[in-house]
Amino acid sequence: MPGVRLVDVVKKYGRIVAVDHVTLSINDGEFFALLGPSGCGKTTTLRLIAGLEYPDEGSIYIGDRDVTRLHPRNRDVAMVFQNYALYPHMTVFENIAFPLEVRRRELGLTRDDIRRMVVETARFLGIDHLLDRRPGQLSGGQQQRVALARALVRKPKVWLLDEPLSNLDAKLRLLMRAELKRLQKTLGITTVYVTHDQAEAMTMADRIAVMDKGRVKQVGTPEDLYYRPANMFVAGFIGTPPVNFIKSSLKKLSEEVKAERGVGIVEASKTRYVLELPGLKVPVDPGIGSMLESKGVSEVVLAVRPQQVGVVFGDGAWDVEGEVLVVEPTGTESIVTVKLGDEVVRAVVPGDARVQMGSTVRLRFEWSKTLLFDPRTEELLA
Ligand code: ATP
Repeated sequence: MPGVRLVDVVKKYGRIVAVDHVTLSINDGEFFALLGPSGCGKTTTLRLIAGLEYPDEGSIYIGDRDVTRLHPRNRDVAMVFQNYALYPHMTVFENIAFPLEVRRRELGLTRDDIRRMVVETARFLGIDHLLDRRPGQLSGGQQQRVALARALVRKPKVWLLDEPLSNLDAKLRLLMRAELKRLQKTLGITTVYVTHDQAEAMTMADRIAVMDKGRVKQVGTPEDLYYRPANMFVAGFIGTPPVNFIKSSLKKLSEEVKAERGVGIVEASKTRYVLELPGLKVPVDPGIGSMLESKGVSEVVLAVRPQQVGVVFGDGAWDVEGEVLVVEPTGTESIVTVKLGDEVVRAVVPGDARVQMGSTVRLRFEWSKTLLFDPRTEELLA
């Protein structure tokens, strides 16, 4: 299975730049997700790979082949659309057989070959008992499988999926997520998957490109995006509840302060920089402090995930107090919203933690996991 490459691809619709100088390299056999908010250019990127649109600039390769100007038929890709696009007047068998029927001569297939291929694919997807029905007589999940089968039956080199699970209810969506992932890995087929659902991309994809306003903001594994987001957009888009951004200032101290665990893990009595947050001064690793100073950065945005904020009892040097605004139980966990000066910070605590609305709590950040961003460029600093 070949990979897919986009080189400096631009697609405009009038004055709208839907895809803005996108360069991507998708590996052979990879499950690759295009993730981003509505209108960021994900679907257009997928349609460009499919050949349903042609770029204004740039090139697209499938394997070593430049397919930029090729007709969709000649690209050896198969696309699954959000609404499945099944033919309502045809049976499931006819729907799945369709891509083979229209090219039967070209592919040198007999009717028996087609029957065998359809039945095999249907069996693989667990829908071989539905072959005589029409799409209208199927559940959403079954229709979904028919659409997947139709896309797989001629064993394309690249599989293009546009939000294929968005029409399913929450439970079925979770089930199909696992099934799609298994299917993709079993077949080893290079897959480009469009979604606006970060949990879907994170759980299924080997790598993800996060897009915003036609541009790629970062490409990485789910872990890269979660733990090392390159900018505030990615940090804010990945993770639920969303990451906390807290405005803070970097101060250089004339005297040394004793620190145990500060931003970037600080050794005792080496600190000469602190970060000022509402109600708290936290020591900063001297290396990070001097790096920020050399860049002329004094204002920063501290990012800490709600899962890295704990409600604690007892004393800790770098804890901070705040008033609980809301407690939202979700079962195993509760989301606690706390007011810290002018900022609001969310913490995820165990569901049985006794936290009352209106009470004052102490928060402890996992300082070693916090990140710092430049508020001007929104890029990661440290
Ligand atoms: P969604 O998740 O809502 O489908 P998306 O990220 O897939 O969004 P695209 O559908 O690729 O986004 O659209 C990117 C931009 O291009 C949007 O501003 C959209 O309005 C515009 N656009 C897409 N298709 C066309 C078209 N055929 N004509 C004009 N503008 C278009």
